[in-house]
Amino acid sequence: GKLGFAIVGLGKFATEQIMPNFKDCKYARITALVSGTPDKAKKLAQEYGVAEKSVYSYENFDSIKDNPEVDIVYIILPNSMHAEYTIRAAQAGKHVLCEKPMATSVEDCEKMIAACKKANKKLMIAYRAHYEPFNLEAMDRIRKGELGKLRAITSDHGRPVKPTEDKADSWRVVKKLAGGGSLMDIGIYALNACRYLTGEEPVEITAQEFSDKSDPRFKEVEDNIHFTLRFPSGVLASCTSSYSYSEVKRGRAFGDKAWLDLDPLSDYKEHTMKIGSDEGKQEPKIKEGNQFAAELDHMAECVRDNKTPKTPGEEGLKDVRYIMAIYEAAKKGKAVKV
Ligand code: NAD
Repeated sequence: GKLGFAIVGLGKFATEQIMPNFKDCKYARITALVSGTPDKAKKLAQEYGVAEKSVYSYENFDSIKDNPEVDIVYIILPNSMHAEYTIRAAQAGKHVLCEKPMATSVEDCEKMIAACKKANKKLMIAYRAHYEPFNLEAMDRIRKGELGKLRAITSDHGRPVKPTEDKADSWRVVKKLAGGGSLMDIGIYALNACRYLTGEEPVEITAQEFSDKSDPRFKEVEDNIHFTLRFPSGVLASCTSSYSYSEVKRGRAFGDKAWLDLDPLSDYKEHTMKIGSDEGKQEPKIKEGNQFAAELDHMAECVRDNKTPKTPGEEGLKDVRYIMAIYEAAKKGKAVKV
């Protein structure tokens, strides 16, 4: 049978991307909803066949412990709320899938890991690129040496944030809820990609930030932040993250034999891969897959088979640590060793 998921937070990403994609899941189904807006929750419960008694508010959320239909709680709330709801879910005896960024501080990430460990529950961070066919193929080709020795990576991730037009963006410019700006939200894809494309952890970080403080969007959170990562093998990665440039989500790995380009690297669909060298360019045929369904099924399989997820809490914690080091390097104007 399929494992039951409770969706916590019925916002834009939950309702437009996650919930509709359960239709392609083999091992996962929606069995509960948690929302502060009863009308919206009721309507979605009807649409997705969720029992009325399995619709919770943030106040009575903890009683989800008595619902045997719920195996896994999926947290899709503003970033600074991830920690509280992950911990409450673990204490209610449920496994947790949590959106990126894992939390807005290293301490919160550590508390989340500890709470799930104490309750003997799985914790997975929803890094969907790790379940997306083009990214998996890129990792595979790099590991097999198709590019030769990896020398450099570049990745750019940004989009114009629109807090007055899009409700989902309104909390993204509030530091208390978002934790930070473009880096926490979208630059994290560049950071994470540098790590999974190299298969290494960075040892040194530099960064520069610029935000126009007269723009009301950037009173509290950063706009442009560029960073470099030096990896033990000598690979240098150079990334940009922005809340003001026209949408880009790309990455390129440069080897001594060939380069590999993903553009987009981290979109919801329509990825492309190009590989180039002295011998010319090619565009490998890769079948587009449902990364959301693959991610949800992976979580369900890990719970069913008592396995550690490919992207556990520790993976989310690492990125939050590097994000803090990027902010520190930008602030000090000096390289930070990690
Ligand atoms: P959203 O604002 O549309 O959704 C957040 C939900 O939380 C809303 O339903 C809102 O009502 C609810 N909420 C509860 N308490 C709140 C409070 N105090 N303030 C504000 N909202 C509150 O945002 P979203 O774009 O769906 O993002 C939600 C989470 O999902 C974020 O952590 C974000 O980083 C993540 N996300 C991930 C991806 C991805 O591709 N993996 C894409 C988009 C968003």
